[in-house]
Amino acid sequence: MMEGATWLIHKYVMHGFLWILHSDHHDHSTERNLEKNDYFFIIFAIPAIILMCFGSRQGFNYLFYIGLGVTLYGMAYFFVHDIFIHQRIGFLNKTKNPYLLTIRRTHK
Ligand SMILES: [Zn+2]
Ligand SMILES: [Zn+2]
Repeated sequence: MMEGATWLIHKYVMHGFLWILHSDHHDHSTERNLEKNDYFFIIFAIPAIILMCFGSRQGFNYLFYIGLGVTLYGMAYFFVHDIFIHQRIGFLNKTKNPYLLTIRRTHK
């Protein structure tokens, strides 16, 4: 479900009314360590924190696990997208696997 949610949010929110925060992720004319796009880490963490907070106060019901799933998805996304694809911290950068290198090269 997070893949579908991410696709929709990227297309209609990040490329919509929050383009002001997302544009520097596609415009690499000003490369810095941090991008305005990184605010989305905070934005996407808020519903996950709220879900885990409410879920834990209700006997760790389904809300907690939805929030946990969103968090684990975010962590996986960070590893694949920010560390591997964008090479933001010089780690996971030695692969010669043609499939992985194609993913990195074709990511826009
Ligand atoms: Zn985009
Ligand atoms: Zn990217």
